[in-house]
This record gives sequence, C-alpha cells and structure tokens, in this order.
Amino acid sequence: MQEHGYWGLRLFSRKQILVTGGAGFLGSHLCERLLADGHDVLCVDNFFTGTRDNILSLLDNKRFEFMRHDVTFPLYVEVDEIYNLACPASPNHYQHDPVQTTKTSVHGAINMLGLAKRLGARIFQASTSEVYGDPTVHPQTEDYRGHVNPIGPRACYDEGKRCAETLFFDYRRQHNLNIRVARIFNTYGPRMHIDDGRVVSNFIVQALRGEPITIYGDGSQTRAFCYVDDLIEGFVRLMNTSDDVTGPVNLGNPVEISIRQLATKIIELTGSRSPLLSKPLPSDDPLQRCPDISMAKRLLDWEPTIALEQGLQRCIAYFDQVLRASA
Ligand code: NAD
Ligand code: UDP
Repeated sequence: MQEHGYWGLRLFSRKQILVTGGAGFLGSHLCERLLADGHDVLCVDNFFTGTRDNILSLLDNKRFEFMRHDVTFPLYVEVDEIYNLACPASPNHYQHDPVQTTKTSVHGAINMLGLAKRLGARIFQASTSEVYGDPTVHPQTEDYRGHVNPIGPRACYDEGKRCAETLFFDYRRQHNLNIRVARIFNTYGPRMHIDDGRVVSNFIVQALRGEPITIYGDGSQTRAFCYVDDLIEGFVRLMNTSDDVTGPVNLGNPVEISIRQLATKIIELTGSRSPLLSKPLPSDDPLQRCPDISMAKRLLDWEPTIALEQGLQRCIAYFDQVLRASA
C-alpha cells in the first residue's frame, strides 16, 4: 500500500489489485473503475472469452498491467486485494467446454484463495444467481438454498459456482480469510460479446440487423436486468465495506420483465422491423428470476440507479457502433 487520504468514510489507500477475468465484459469495466479510483491493477486473463480490445484503452496506463494466465494453474504475484471473475458466463460459452468450466470455477477458486491466504489479502468472488437454479422461491433471497439440476447442461457452471462459494466459506472458517461473495444477476452493457448468445446482446444485434428476434419457449420466462455501471458500484461497495460482511449478497436490478416484453422493448427502441421467431426453450432454462436486494440496500446502501430503457439505449449505441465498424 502506498498513498493515503480520505475516500468516502474509509481511509483511502492506493492498493495493488488483482482482477482475474479482467479482459472480459464485467472485468474490463471493473479494471477501469479501480484505475479511476487511483489503484494499481493487475489484470489476469487467458482470453477464453475476453479480448484484448476490451482492455485496449487501459494498456497505456502505467498503473495497469496485463498478464496472460489460466487460473486453473497456480499464480504467484504480490497484491493487496483480489477480485475473482475468471469464468465464462454465457450459457453458450460455459457449455462449450463444460469440464474446463468446472475446473475454472473450482480449481480457479482454490488457486486464488491459496494466493489470498499467503498474502493475507481480501478476496471477492463473482458468484451468480445460477446458484439458485430454477428457483421455487420468488424473488430470490440469499437464504434460499436453490433448486439446481446437478447433472444437467447448466450444472458445470451452477455447481462449479456453488462449490466455489463452499470453498470461500471454508477458507473463511479454516483460515480466517477476509472474503466477499456477490451473487450477480443478469447484467448487460457495452462490451458484452456480440455472439455470446445472451438475450440482451442477441436481441439488440438481431434488431439492428433486421433479423428475426429469437424467443426461446413462449417468452413468458422472466429475468431482471442490471446495467453494468450499477453492478460495478455494488462490487466496489461490497469489497470496501466492514470486515464482518462476507455475503453472499445478491447484486442485480429487481425490476422483472418477461423475455417477450424485452424483445418488444428492444424493437421499439431500435425502431426495428424485425419479426419475432419462436425457438425451443433450452433444457433447465429457469422460468423466473429476480433478486431480492434488501441485504445489499441495508449493508451497502446500494441499489441500481439506471433504468432498463436508459441502459438499453447505451447498449444499443454500443452495438450499433460495433456493427458499423465491422461492416
Ligand atoms: P466474460 O465471459 O465476458 O468474462 C469472463 C472472463 O474470464 C473472460 O475474459 C475470460 O477470458 C476469462 N476466463 C475464463 N476462463 C479463464 C481461466 N481459466 N483463466 C483466466 N481467465 C479466464 O463474462 P462476464 O459476464 O464478464 O462474467 C464475469 C464473471 O461474473 C464470471 O465469473 C461470471 O460467472 C460472473 N457473472 C456474470 C453475470 C453477467 O450477467 N454478466 C451474471 C452472474 C455472474
Ligand atoms: N433467450 C431467448 N432468446 C435468445 C437468447 C436467450 O429467448 O436469443 C432467453 C433464454 O432462454 C433465457 C433468457 O433469455 O430464458 C435469458 O438468457 P441468457 O442466456 O441471457 O441468460 P440466463 O439464462 O443465464 O439468465
């Protein structure tokens, strides 16, 4: 730690912060935010789904360093804090090599927890609403234990993330590690992958290209979408709150919308003439998902501030630019 000064209510210290998965969608926004807050950032990524383009604007920053590394292998670096985000997040990507997905979640967590233990560093885990599976409790609160199919196509991700949470809490109990676990609900924004198959990127790109909007099932399944800037604010607050807060804490936007309504909204905002096209519902696709964020409000004084329409407009502008550049 180097420079000191007041930062909010906390004594500000310039820290060396490791972000695994830092070249991905959320990771690149987090690196940007931590640099803007005055920290030194070490971004570790194997470029499985992340790209150099996502961090291109950071490479000239003297406080930013990139290291190509796979977190399933041990890592020896010196840092003050760790944000562990490395893991493919879209169903298409994580089902592409399911064994590697589980290894990334589980071996990756073991390696990063081992590193945190050696350094006495605080460590944050990017967990997921998928730990609740296809939920039978609605909206989902942190004490709900979930309804996950352990042998289905989503299990490599869901069970991998559940096991990672177990490891975080065992390292806390066994080694007194300072841990933070965030359960992230669907998040969208600029730098989502154009072809990762997630619903927001799919619908926007299809609408902009005038292609049919692919609705899986009857489109009555629901999700709640959080804009990336809101989520990153939640990450930073959770990491910097008092030592007794470990989580898991739900982070997401509690405004629930059906997939069909989302399609209609995106068509409206883009002025597209795309028709709706029904496709089969993938197996184990959760029917309903929405976070209860009372805990985040109480402990972190956090709640999303960016409305869906506003966030979608920014996301549409981003994809419009990407499509024009590649035309
Ligand atoms: P992403 O695919 O854009 O980013 C993941 C990053 O991890 C990529 O840069 C990828 O190259 C890297 N990575 C994957 N395997 C790795 C490995 N073995 N070693 C090193 N790097 C590796 O996905 P994202 O949306 O930015 O998600 C980031 C994290 O947040 C993930 O852990 C994900 O599970 C979690 N999360 C995201 C969402 C969401 O809506 N975006 C929701 C819940 C949880
Ligand atoms: N979905 C859809 N059309 C698409 C992509 C996704 O109808 O082109 C649906 C998908 O079946 C799911 C919801 O949108 O019900 C959210 O899917 P996504 O992959 O974005 O996230 P997750 O299922 O992990 O929440």
